[in-house]
Amino acid sequence: MGKHNIKCLGQYFHDIHEECGVFGVYGHQEAANLTYLGLYGLQHRGQEGAGICSADGKALHIEKSMGLVADIFTEKRLRRLPGHAAIGHNRYSTAGSSVLKNVQPLVANYSRGSIAIAHNGNLVNADQLRAKLEGDGAIFQSSSDSEVILHLIARSKKEDPHERIIDALQDVRGAFSLLFAREDEIIAVRDPYGVRPLALGELDGAYVVGSETCAFDLINATYIRDVHPGEMVIINKDGLKSIPALKTTRLAHCIFEFIYFSRPDSYIYDHICVNTIRNNFGKQLAKDSPVDADIVIPVPDSGVPAAIGYATESGIPFDFGLIRNHYVGRTFIEPRQSIRHFGVKIKLNPIRDLLNGKRVIVVDDSIVRGTTSKKIIKMIREVGGAKEVHMRISSPPTIGPCFYGIDTPTRQELIASTHMVEEIRKYITADSLSYMSLEGLKSIIPNPQNYCAACFDNNYPIKFQKESTAQMELAFSAN
Ligand code: AMP
Repeated sequence: MGKHNIKCLGQYFHDIHEECGVFGVYGHQEAANLTYLGLYGLQHRGQEGAGICSADGKALHIEKSMGLVADIFTEKRLRRLPGHAAIGHNRYSTAGSSVLKNVQPLVANYSRGSIAIAHNGNLVNADQLRAKLEGDGAIFQSSSDSEVILHLIARSKKEDPHERIIDALQDVRGAFSLLFAREDEIIAVRDPYGVRPLALGELDGAYVVGSETCAFDLINATYIRDVHPGEMVIINKDGLKSIPALKTTRLAHCIFEFIYFSRPDSYIYDHICVNTIRNNFGKQLAKDSPVDADIVIPVPDSGVPAAIGYATESGIPFDFGLIRNHYVGRTFIEPRQSIRHFGVKIKLNPIRDLLNGKRVIVVDDSIVRGTTSKKIIKMIREVGGAKEVHMRISSPPTIGPCFYGIDTPTRQELIASTHMVEEIRKYITADSLSYMSLEGLKSIIPNPQNYCAACFDNNYPIKFQKESTAQMELAFSAN
């Protein structure tokens, strides 16, 4: 070793992570291959590990590993996944530590046969349920909250396998867009709040289900509709059956999917285009927080649609003043001799020819800890030569951690939970800083009352118990 330090990207950037992506197919000879492509299209939702479980009418077959979809699934591995049905999962741990045993789908054998689960979202009462199950003698294989659901299904007293799933889900609280595989069918269920997206599509007479429609586009599948909040969709040789499984009292779609998570080319929450919403965020921001400047630049990729909206509305020219290296992995080797701005340079580099001597508006989607903005602004001034830097954020200040599947830092680490906008401006060294207002945000999203915006207003629609985790205690005491 000696000469180099191995650094983890998280040491330089925010350490919050994307959540998970799920994808499933029923009724296609190439079910595993299509699921592989679906997961490939959902890679942005999780890069820690991935797995596919196929079903051939008699048995389940599973292949999973740590790493990226394209690296995990070789042709050889895909050949080990026979059958006309499959479900898959991309993981970025939101609960449970990052080890192979936590990579999904999780498969279990119980009195009714085999069952596999792929879960996007986070349960808020998993700790209590797990403690109770363990007290009753259950042995867990993973530290993932999703395994609790398998145990509850295995222990249900209901006869019918579908009723067992519904019975199990009566006990869990939180966010869950779930896919199950059994020997001869796949089943999709969405929590009654509809927190995470889950879309249903069709391809050559087969059905596909996935977190986002960008995955459907990749395989030429047609987006039909969403799996409704509280709905169970059973897909097997008899076709598609819909059951109103869980009672919905209110909706709470995650608003952050529009801000950061989903890909702009996806349509989520019943046919809403993510790019259009982000673009409108930028236009609204330009109306609410104008500033005299020469150029509008995005923090790529997350700030691009909003920056285009800001430029369109303000009439100030748009350009890519920061270029992103798309091949930055999780770890890299840092030369021992320190290089100025190394941490941010590894990912972004300014174009001096565009920025030198200019008054620059920088648009990003969010500030979490504030460290990224601070480094970017410093680099735009020192390397780019900008005269002024005006930061515009296309979401309101992030003040609340998420307990429903987005791995945000604790409340104390969210800079806006303890600092006023002017203090944040000083910290990130911007000439001016403006966020989108919550009212502005809600004026752009159709039916805003159907959303969870707890990260911006501390209003947590799904309640959790104080004792579950230290982080939850914090959130609870703040309510
Ligand atoms: P920070 O340095 O913690 O303020 O990070 C802010 C940056 O993180 C912005 O560029 C956002 O686009 C990005 N970001 C926001 N939410 C997430 C998330 N959940 N996972 C990864 N990056 C995020």
